[in-house]
Amino acid sequence: MCGRVASDAFAVVLTAGPDVDIEAILRAALQSIGRPHWVDNVVRVSAHAGFAQAPHHATTRGELTRRANRALRAAAKKGPGSIVIFDLSIDTTSNDQKFIHRELPRAISANELEVHYQPIVSSQGGRMVGVEALLRWTHATRGAIQPTTFIPVAEQMGLMDTIGAFVLRRTLQDARRWPDDLYVAVNLSPLQVRDRTIVDMVRSALADSAVAPSRLVLEITEGVLIDDRDEMVKRINDLHELGVRVALDDFGSGYYNLGYLQRFPLDKLKIDRSFVAALGRSSNGGVIIQAIVAFGRALGLSVLVEGVETEHQRVLLRLAGCDEMQGFLFAKPAPAKAIDKLLAQAKQGGKPLSAADEALTA
Ligand code: C2E
Ligand code: MG
Ligand code: MG
Repeated sequence: MCGRVASDAFAVVLTAGPDVDIEAILRAALQSIGRPHWVDNVVRVSAHAGFAQAPHHATTRGELTRRANRALRAAAKKGPGSIVIFDLSIDTTSNDQKFIHRELPRAISANELEVHYQPIVSSQGGRMVGVEALLRWTHATRGAIQPTTFIPVAEQMGLMDTIGAFVLRRTLQDARRWPDDLYVAVNLSPLQVRDRTIVDMVRSALADSAVAPSRLVLEITEGVLIDDRDEMVKRINDLHELGVRVALDDFGSGYYNLGYLQRFPLDKLKIDRSFVAALGRSSNGGVIIQAIVAFGRALGLSVLVEGVETEHQRVLLRLAGCDEMQGFLFAKPAPAKAIDKLLAQAKQGGKPLSAADEALTA
């Protein structure tokens, strides 16, 4: 069985006995993909593959996919045409990971983690209506380490509840001095949602900050659907009952079972930036994003498009009917002080963020 699971990722499920040479099968598949194609000119496609085996590497569907994915990422690092078989050392041997393992606990106590904020603007008028909290780690010697690099390690080390609580509390603390009609969005990884104590954590952080729950948006991703669906739906319902809003992040980047969307108490769809990148590149790009925006609106959800980088994209997206936008065109993620400054400018009748803001994009 073969299916597309993300923009350029495919999953293959093979049922085979122990004596089948999986590597040979993968090599043949990669070779076949690598044959030149003729599209106006010669076009070559390359691919890489990672695989994991049940019950040898994992016994649940979720774990098996995650481990195959890890192997796939390791293959991506090795380069086109490579094949990586999962083994436990993939999780811990890379130098980066070892470094993060060693340094992260120290970074937390040394306050090296910081929350930055990226403005979210209304499509009509370009006013800043919210901000998304994005975690930053600036290491004394290594410089900036990306959240997509260190968060998975934090999760493996069981540090994500500490870090997640820090991000939420910090964000709500900052939100206190911002206007009541400005919302703050905080990301929750699937593992954070899986943790039952998250509901109490959010409740107490809200109570301590005295920020209205309606000002908080929690961003979840489809990853929460991988296993224990009923449990996850219940968890998200519990969170929603606190009065916060729930957004589905990176919509369209994975494989959604659209039926499940209805089970979640969603308020907002955040359309993945890959669709925006396709805008203007091909005529299909525009049609697809229009359809997705219309889909979200038909479900009664507020639709936000991420990754808006050009004026051309902004105009097309506004025409497509999206409610809110976020992207480098308006502002890059920046420290809370920069948001204070933008708000002060807006109060004095400053220009809306509908064009690149030099102060932040420089
Ligand atoms: P995300 O939630 O989808 O966040 C949006 C990402 O897109 C951010 O990357 C942001 O800097 C980037 N971005 C914004 N506008 C543009 C644009 O116009 N063009 C391009 N190319 N990129 C843009 P960042 O900060 O590196 O964060 C990456 C991911 O890490 C986030 O994706 C989120 O899933 C995760 N993350 C960040 N902070 C946290 C956190 O506090 N907790 C959790 N659980 N995850 C976090
Ligand atoms: Mg997000
Ligand atoms: Mg996103």
